[in-house]
Amino acid sequence: MTHDNDCNVYAIDCGGEFLLVDSGCGLEADQLVANLERDGIPLERVETLVLTHGHLDHSGGACPLRDRLHLKVAASVPTARALEAGDEEAISLAAAKRAGVYPAGVSFEACPVDRTLRDGDRLTVGECTLEILSAPGHSRDMVNLLVHRGSRRDLFCGDTVFHGGRILLQDTADCDVSAYTHTLHRLAALEFDGFYPGHLIWSEQRGHRHLEKAREYLDRLLLPPNIV
Ligand SMILES: [Zn+2]
Repeated sequence: MTHDNDCNVYAIDCGGEFLLVDSGCGLEADQLVANLERDGIPLERVETLVLTHGHLDHSGGACPLRDRLHLKVAASVPTARALEAGDEEAISLAAAKRAGVYPAGVSFEACPVDRTLRDGDRLTVGECTLEILSAPGHSRDMVNLLVHRGSRRDLFCGDTVFHGGRILLQDTADCDVSAYTHTLHRLAALEFDGFYPGHLIWSEQRGHRHLEKAREYLDRLLLPPNIV
């Protein structure tokens, strides 16, 4: 975490090879790289960046990180389409700027995508296997990652669900409520230990309890509360 507009950016040690999940907004990408170095992560071993979705706070750093770290960028097909075109409407950046979420001068830098991700895909990075889960709702282009390493499973869920089972519905063209509830039910049916959302605090153990909390609302035909 660096710039105020950055999401949580995770660096996962897959046994000497490192995987980044999300890139921040890109306004302080140099500081983010410095943080990796400070944490003792050899930059030449950071090989892959997976984007959960295209919103600027998650994808805006893809281009500078790809240039600096010579890593491969992986994203869902719609995220890749938006990123390669620098399409600000597709990632709701124009709406976010009008709402004052970002300064008016911020722009979305187009970036090549090296690999597109589809539901059910499995990627190997070092000792980790990444299971890709399509997770539309907060945005239609969302993917979540279930990272398997040994007997451990960790969920990286972007902006799908947060601590306490809260969600993030926004009045944007890419938000889809019925898809969102379907996705939450799907995630609640998974088994995992660690819970790593795109904002706020994470849980290294018993992470599934946050999905159970969300499901309590859904079972009463209610939506979980928003984080803001
Ligand atoms: Zn988002």
